[in-house]
Amino acid sequence: MALLEIREYGKDDVLLKVCKPVKDLTPRLKTLIEDMYETMYDADGVGLAAPQVGVLRRICVIDIGEGPVTLLNPEVLETSGEQTGNEGCLSVPGKTGQVTRPNYAKVKALNEDMQEIIVEGEGLMARALLHEIDHLDGHIYVDKVEGDLYNVEDLVEEIDEEE
Ligand code: ZN
Repeated sequence: MALLEIREYGKDDVLLKVCKPVKDLTPRLKTLIEDMYETMYDADGVGLAAPQVGVLRRICVIDIGEGPVTLLNPEVLETSGEQTGNEGCLSVPGKTGQVTRPNYAKVKALNEDMQEIIVEGEGLMARALLHEIDHLDGHIYVDKVEGDLYNVEDLVEEIDEEE
C-alpha cells in the first residue's frame, strides 16, 4: 500500500477531464483502490475519486464512518429532496463552501468483484456519492458553491467567537 499524491484544483487539469469506464479490474487497479483508501483515510477525507490521484478511471471510494464503499462505473439512478450544507474536497485543501444537493441518492455501480450493487444514502452519504461521481465527469464542487469559498480556519475561528 502507498500514499498517493492528491491532485489540487487549479494546479492539475486531470481533475477537469471525463474518466473512462473500468472494463476489468486488473491487479493494478485493485492496488490503486487499496492505495486510494489509504490516501483518503490519511487525509481525513470521506471520499476520493480516481482523478484526484491522477487516474482517469470511473472509480471512487467512500467512507463516511459507516465502512468502506467502492464504486466502479457508478451511475445515479434517482435523487430526491434537498440539503444545503458545507462541503469540502481533498483537491481543494483548506477550503469549504455551501452547496445545495439532493438529500437522497440511489446509485448503481460495480463492486470490486465486478458485480452490480445498488447504494443508497441520505444526508452526508448522498452528498458524498454525488460529490465523488461529479469528479468522474470533471466537475468540482466549487462550481456549485453558493456565495464565497471560505478558508476552513476562518470558519473555525468564527465558530469559536460565537461560543
Ligand atoms: Zn472532491
